[in-house]
Amino acid sequence: MIVLEAEPLKKAALQRAQERLAALEEAAPGIYAEPRQYSGISPSAARVLFFCPRLAWLERRHQKSFATEHGVYKMELGHVIHQALQERLGGTAELRVERRLKDVTIVGVADLVFDEDCRDRRLCGSVVEIKTGRPSPADVLQLSLYAAMLNKGKAYLLRVREEDGVFVGTLERVQPQPREAARWLKRYARVVASQTPPPPGRPCSSCVFKKLCARLLSAPLV
Ligand code: SF4
Repeated sequence: MIVLEAEPLKKAALQRAQERLAALEEAAPGIYAEPRQYSGISPSAARVLFFCPRLAWLERRHQKSFATEHGVYKMELGHVIHQALQERLGGTAELRVERRLKDVTIVGVADLVFDEDCRDRRLCGSVVEIKTGRPSPADVLQLSLYAAMLNKGKAYLLRVREEDGVFVGTLERVQPQPREAARWLKRYARVVASQTPPPPGRPCSSCVFKKLCARLLSAPLV
């Protein structure tokens, strides 16, 4: 179990989120757009499939990723937690990785990567995916992709929750699922290549992105 004091990290994340929000385009009320940084498929973009295939399609078509204000804060909180964990555990935080797997270029940023020779023996030679949100089926698939891209035999999910003023991280060893991850990527590639928007993945009436989707679906695509 790994324990980090929460308040300084939350304060730093809030500051970073405010700065980032000020620089982002507000694509619809309360929804912020950031230009995509990579031309290949990124595991984090493919995660959007689990939320809604139509949103994944719109993100790809517009070459942007969309997030609520809270989503931007959560991303920045993830960033400061990655840095704090690197200081605590060693390894390399937020390592950019690009690999061609099964005719697809995958580009992403691995949360924490450890060499064979590292501070904590159990982590040596592993890749760690850090999650602060609700568990998703994409968690293991995303980690599996990074394990394949980095050629790592050991993979961990580190789930971080807030409890009584601290962040508590729990490590869970995961068996990578490269075949499932490849299937997920293929599905993503098929969805984003479609000429027409795929069906929504949930009821639009209660979705935070409904104004964005309504606006984009009647706007010309870039
Ligand atoms: S509004 Fe509908 S189509 Fe858009 S992201 Fe939400 S569920 Fe998907």
